[in-house]
Amino acid sequence: MTQLSTDKVSSEKQMNTDVLSKLTKKSFLQAGEVALVGSGPGDAELLTIRALRFIEQADVVIYDRLVSDEIMALLPDDCERFYVGKEQAKHCVPQGKINELLVQYAQQGRKVLRLKGGDPFIFGRGGEEAEFLLQHGVSCHVCPGITAASGCTTYAGIPLTHRGVAQGCTFITGHMQNDGQLNLPWQSLSCASQTVVFYMGINTLPSIAEQLIKHGRAANTPAALIRKGTQPEQQIFRGNISTLADLVEQHNITPPTLIVIGDVVNQLTDTALAKPGFLDAETYQAQMQLSEKAG
Ligand code: SAH
Repeated sequence: MTQLSTDKVSSEKQMNTDVLSKLTKKSFLQAGEVALVGSGPGDAELLTIRALRFIEQADVVIYDRLVSDEIMALLPDDCERFYVGKEQAKHCVPQGKINELLVQYAQQGRKVLRLKGGDPFIFGRGGEEAEFLLQHGVSCHVCPGITAASGCTTYAGIPLTHRGVAQGCTFITGHMQNDGQLNLPWQSLSCASQTVVFYMGINTLPSIAEQLIKHGRAANTPAALIRKGTQPEQQIFRGNISTLADLVEQHNITPPTLIVIGDVVNQLTDTALAKPGFLDAETYQAQMQLSEKAG
């Protein structure tokens, strides 16, 4: 590293500390309490300051598969770590056991961090965990995280709503119910001026596409699949409702992947951004010229 870049890194570090020190600290984790914290979709820079403050105070952490390595690396060295990762339909540790672990550690007087991907209260079973803790006399700090639908689409250059294009947005689970059915309000998901984001839908994609089309959503509605959004491995595949299932097969796309349906998908760009979260003006203008020529 040159002297210049070393100076730049140390002055940036200095600046960060200064900014944070100006902010009143409000998030204190006491012994015997749990902090139920959302870690966002992966990029550590998408953590909230409140999340960061709980992370630095934890002496034990219970975390899921969706918490990125970059975020795990921020935990204090002596923080004890328990992985209770979940993959669809393949729970490493059953939910009941996770609830009990949380209570057990809190009752031992530990400072317990329950770290979950995205937002704990959006398809994260955070509500169940908080309820269980409260019922067992354990108080709990709650901290939102950037949910996958918001973080992944933004880093892919997709605005979830756009004036005149999408007036609303729905986050919905594509995970099958216990009866093996996908009982979703298809009629309301089929409105053209609405963006729909499916979580956990990769395995049920053929039936999602079929039902949307059956209920009136145009088969050529733009759609995208975002895998490992906001992370260095982020992948984006664009197509339309009728081509999504083929894309999954062709590219062997596995979870965690988000499905985004709606005209907003190609609003700013119809190709993957060279750098997640960075909209490059040169590329944008070149694309515009191309489409003007084609049109
Ligand atoms: N509580 C989480 C969602 C957990 S459900 C949140 O608020 O984001 C798990 C599903 O979320 C995955 O199957 C996938 O559909 C989606 N997901 C979470 N993180 C993701 C990521 N980084 N990239 C793509 N999809 C993600």
